[in-house]
Amino acid sequence: MKSFVLNDFIVERDDRRCIRCQVCVRQCSFEVHRYDAELDQVLADEEKCVGCQRCATFCPTHALTIRSSPREFRANANWRPELLMDIKRQAESGGVLLTGMGNDKPFRVYFDHLLLNASQVTNPSLDPLREPMEVRTYLGAKPARLRYENGRITGDMPPQIQLETPIMFSAMSYGAITYNAQLALMQAAQELGTLCNTGEGGWHPDFRKFRDHVTVQVASGRFGIDQDYLNQAAMVEIKIGQGAKPGIGGHLPGEKVTPLVARTRMIPAGTDAISPAPQHDIYSIEDLSALIYALKEATGYEKPVAVKIAAVHNAAAIASGIVRAGADVVVIDGVRGGTGAAPKAIRDHVGIPAELALAAVDRRLRQEGIRNRASLVVAGGIRCSADVFKALALGADAVYIGTAALVAMGCTLCQQCYTGKCAWGITSARPDLAKRLNPDIATRRVVNLVRAWTREIKEMLGGMGINAVESLRENRLQLRAVGLEDWEMDVLGVKGAGM
Ligand code: SF4
Ligand code: SF4
Repeated sequence: MKSFVLNDFIVERDDRRCIRCQVCVRQCSFEVHRYDAELDQVLADEEKCVGCQRCATFCPTHALTIRSSPREFRANANWRPELLMDIKRQAESGGVLLTGMGNDKPFRVYFDHLLLNASQVTNPSLDPLREPMEVRTYLGAKPARLRYENGRITGDMPPQIQLETPIMFSAMSYGAITYNAQLALMQAAQELGTLCNTGEGGWHPDFRKFRDHVTVQVASGRFGIDQDYLNQAAMVEIKIGQGAKPGIGGHLPGEKVTPLVARTRMIPAGTDAISPAPQHDIYSIEDLSALIYALKEATGYEKPVAVKIAAVHNAAAIASGIVRAGADVVVIDGVRGGTGAAPKAIRDHVGIPAELALAAVDRRLRQEGIRNRASLVVAGGIRCSADVFKALALGADAVYIGTAALVAMGCTLCQQCYTGKCAWGITSARPDLAKRLNPDIATRRVVNLVRAWTREIKEMLGGMGINAVESLRENRLQLRAVGLEDWEMDVLGVKGAGM
C-alpha cells in the first residue's frame, strides 16, 4: 500500500560545507542518511526523519539543517495537518498511535500566567550571596502540633526524607531508559542530596549502592519487588496513575526485555512486561490503606510511603482519601508529564494541568485540617526554576523533574522513545545506541542543571525578602495572575496582577 503520510521534516544539506565524512550516516538511528559512492554524495530519506537533531548536532561542518515540513493544505481550522496525517497513519496501520514524552498540545501552561512578587522599600530583599538561604526540604507526615521539653522538640516524628534541594527525579524505569541514563540519575541524586526513582521496572543490583537516594515504586505489574527492594530504599511509592497516561497500564515490548532488564524485573527475558491498568488489589480507599500499611509493616515503619496519582478531575477528593488512608507523601502528576510510550489519544486528551490539581489538593487538605499529614510533590511539566518556585508557592513541598533531566542529557523531545531507537542513548533498546550516553558526563549535566535551578530559587527567595523555602510554601500572596479567567484564579487561589 502506498503511504499517503507526508514527511514531518525536511533535511537540508549545504553541499559546499559537506565534507562527506558520513558522521550523519553513522549517527542517525533512523537510517535517514546514506552515502552514494557513485555520486560521491550524502543523500537523505526524509520520510524517516523524526527531527531528533542528532545529525545536525554532530555534523562537524554545520552543513545540516533539519526543519519542520510546512505540509501546506488548504487552511481548515478544524482539520489541522496533524489530524489528517494521524488519520492516514491509522488508515494504513489499523493500530493505536503510540508516542513518547509528554503532551505537546497548546493547553494553557498556568506557570506562564503567574508572576512573582519582589521586595521594594519597606520589606528589604536579601542577598543570597551574603546571607544563608534555606532550600533544605523534609518529606513525610508532620505532627499536628510540636511539643517541647527543655527547649527541645519531643514526641514521635514520622519518618522523614531530607532533601538538599526541593527537586527530585521522576520515576523512569530501567528498560524504559537505558542503564547509563538511570545510572546518571542515581549518581546525580547522590551528589545533589536528593532522590531519584526506580519507576516500576525493579531495581538493578548495581544501583543498590545509591539506596539513600532512591525511591522504589510499587506499581500494578509488581516487577522486581521483594523484601530487600522495599527495605533498602529511602522511600516507597505506590503508583496508582501517571500524568502521561492516566487510567491505563504500561507495556514494555519483549524485544526491550533484555536479560539484564529481565533480571531486574524478575521476569523471563524476551517476554512482554505488561503493567495492568489498575492495581488488582485496590478497588477502594480501604484497599489502598491496606497496601500502604502492608508496605509500612514490611519496612518497619521507617520509611515514608508515597502514593502517586495522575492529575484528574476530582484530584482533591482523591488526595484527601489517600492522606486519610495513611500515605506520608502524595504525588500529583499533571497532564504534561512525560513517558516512554503512551497511546497518543490518551497522552493528549486525558488529565488536567498539574498547577490546577496541585492548588486544589493543597487547599482541600488545608480545609480538612490534614495538610500536615502528608507532603505534596508535583510533577508533569516542570521546565525551569521559576516553575519549581511557583509550584512551591501553590502548595508543593517538592517537585519531580523527568523530561528536563533527560533534556540536560541530550534529549530533543523527538517523541520516539517507544521505538527503542533513541539516537541519544537515553531510551534506546539497541546496545550500540545505549552506549552513546556517557553516564559520568550525563551526571555532570544533570547536576549542573539542578544546581543552577537551586541557585536561581535562592535568588528569587532573596528577591522576595524571605530566606527559606518553608516560608514560600503555599504563599500564594507572592503570586499574581495575568491573562487568566476568574474561575482559573479561583482554583489557583491567586489574585490578578495589580490587586
Ligand atoms: S555529517 Fe555533515 S559533513 Fe559529514 S557527511 Fe553528514 S552532512 Fe556532510
Ligand atoms: S529520550 Fe530520545 S527518543 Fe525520547 S524524546 Fe528524547 S531524544 Fe527522542
